[in-house]
Amino acid sequence: MAQSRVAIVTGAARGIGAAVAKRLANDGFAVGVLDLTEDNCKDTVAAITEAGGTALAVGADVSNAEQVAAAVNKVADTLGAPTVLVNNAGILRDNLIFKMSEDDWDLVLGVHLRGAFLMSREVQKHQTAENWGRIVNLSSTSALGNRGQVNYSAAKAGMQGFTKTLAIELGKFGITANAIAPGFIETEMTAATAARVGVDFEQFKQGAAAAIPVQRVGQPEDIAAVASFLVSDEAGFVSGQVIYVAGGPQD
Ligand code: NAP
Repeated sequence: MAQSRVAIVTGAARGIGAAVAKRLANDGFAVGVLDLTEDNCKDTVAAITEAGGTALAVGADVSNAEQVAAAVNKVADTLGAPTVLVNNAGILRDNLIFKMSEDDWDLVLGVHLRGAFLMSREVQKHQTAENWGRIVNLSSTSALGNRGQVNYSAAKAGMQGFTKTLAIELGKFGITANAIAPGFIETEMTAATAARVGVDFEQFKQGAAAAIPVQRVGQPEDIAAVASFLVSDEAGFVSGQVIYVAGGPQD
């Protein structure tokens, strides 16, 4: 492959992002492991390097344009031009609309949508220069609507339109853009949701699994496997798609 084998995964300190970073490292990418602070990234970086891979810890808030530009430059200077981007960083600030603050709306839209926009705008400079690239955005089944998540579901539906437009604009440069929309994945994010509604996490997972056709909740590695395919050379004719990874079909 002529193009640079450097990937950036945001929100890669833990959960789905950490699993994607490890999987892409295993696939042969040098990985920029990006999260709010460099220190947060050390476990993921250590896991990758101990397994013989290459990784760099990068601290940045994806919703801050200056930090994003500095982070992408750091990856490019240290590892080489990043041509793969996985926009995974995310937060929840759930509430029913009548109790939702403007800050909680802005924060969630800021990390997911503004963050994906800023990261993609920086990374596409390298991708277009290399005439090859892959962007994978994390959407969610919540894009279809979920009680208590007007901010998050709006952001995750927005990720789908953002993805399709990236695919249209960047296709002629050999760049594909796709979204993965996970269902219930066992991470600190879903553990925090269980805690917020006052349900033991094991019971919460069992309840969720019972409603999923494959009768289990998802693991971060389920998402990493799909990301691994979407960033591969052989996925070059798959673009602008939203792939639900939820153990069953979605409406
Ligand atoms: P997680 O365990 O909460 O991890 C999210 C990571 O993103 C954390 O390390 C967090 O850092 C980081 N982050 C938050 N704000 C950031 C910012 N402004 N800049 C950089 N990094 C930031 O979440 P997850 O469950 O792995 O979810 C990963 C993605 O999948 C998210 O986009 C989420 O919405 C999506 N998703 C998850 C599920 C699920 O069931 N888990 C389902 C559908 C979609 P801190 O630890 O410092 O906050």
